[in-house]
Amino acid sequence: MEINEIVEMDQKHFMNVYSGRYPLYVEKAEGIKIYSKDGKVYRDFLAGIGVNALGYSNQRFKDALKDQIDKIIHCSNLYYIEPQAELEKKLCQNSCFDRIFFANSGSEANEGALKLARKYFKKKGSNKFETITADNSFHGRTMTTVTATGQDKYKEPFTPLPEGFYTVPFNDLEALKEAVTDKTAAIMLEPIQGEGGIYPAEQKYLEGVRKLCDQKDILLIFDEVQCGMGRTGELFAYQNYGVEADIISLAKALGGGVPIGAFMAKEEVASAFEPGDHGTTFGGNPLATRAASEVIDIMLEAGFLEAVREKGSYLKSELDKLVAENDNLIETRGKGLMLAIELSDDLSAKEITDELFERGFLVNAVKEHTLRFLPPLVVEKEDMDLLVKNIREIITEN
Ligand SMILES: *Cc1c(COP(=O)(O)O)cnc(C)c1O
Repeated sequence: MEINEIVEMDQKHFMNVYSGRYPLYVEKAEGIKIYSKDGKVYRDFLAGIGVNALGYSNQRFKDALKDQIDKIIHCSNLYYIEPQAELEKKLCQNSCFDRIFFANSGSEANEGALKLARKYFKKKGSNKFETITADNSFHGRTMTTVTATGQDKYKEPFTPLPEGFYTVPFNDLEALKEAVTDKTAAIMLEPIQGEGGIYPAEQKYLEGVRKLCDQKDILLIFDEVQCGMGRTGELFAYQNYGVEADIISLAKALGGGVPIGAFMAKEEVASAFEPGDHGTTFGGNPLATRAASEVIDIMLEAGFLEAVREKGSYLKSELDKLVAENDNLIETRGKGLMLAIELSDDLSAKEITDELFERGFLVNAVKEHTLRFLPPLVVEKEDMDLLVKNIREIITEN
């Protein structure tokens, strides 16, 4: 198909929700580069929004998928599925959680986590059902997760919304304490807010939230859809804090590009679910779980997560230098390879993103004045140096 045909068909037939698509006509990818049908090449510092953690050329990952395709792609959860069982074991053994359920996306994982929290209290004969989340959070696009999301723009078009959701300022323990009622069932937080602009939780805050949950019999849910799976240099972001949740949700990088989500819980909480309470057609199918199983194996190989920490510190320190040099840059934020740079009101993140696109770099203007970087975890020093060099040039030219 010619490029203009692709654009024409898409504009005619696709629902108008991604109006500003960039003129990149994805053909193939190698390493951390995406090749466009028009011959241009882009270094990808967005990685399909934090999905393609292994980059695009991990042969072992591809071989595992090919092998699985030859065996079986999908079957029902009415039967035992070997790669699913293996993945269950790997995720539970490498986390503080005991049981897991597989879904197909981050929204669905959160939806399941919220259902589990409600069922937990219902089973105990309690009438708690409310959930408190943070301002600026993002939890998904289903009716419930859009309601849980602490950003009005995502929910206003869809009112009336499901009841029982409240938001409070992030990193403000007092506000959270005040918002808790005798109906509060769960507090759901991203240890590092992603779509909100890369805001890490403070250590004291998460510790305080855990304590509050223990005192008031509230379940703590960590949404690690974006910050989990090696992104911060630990397999899970909560491991940076040493603070455990009762339920955690995962997706994005979990399948290395094959759609899969999951939520895990401690035994006591997980046991609230009884046969028939939850289910899915696709979730955890052989192809998706084989993919995720391979992702975990690769991430847990000696040196992988350490390299993420090193690369993350390097990129952050290079961005910090930029900030120190330029009055129009406010600060850098984030952990591992989940980073952002905050621009002054005089600089538009969209304009810089567009300029970087012209120069062959994919980054994301996550907010009006915030540039976000979520490169594949296998990004090289050379790629990061080139990115920083180009940002420096763009900003000094401005
Ligand atoms: C992306 C994201 C979601 C939603 O995931 P989908 O797969 O798009 O449904 C939920 N929570 C967080 C923190 C996310 O970053």
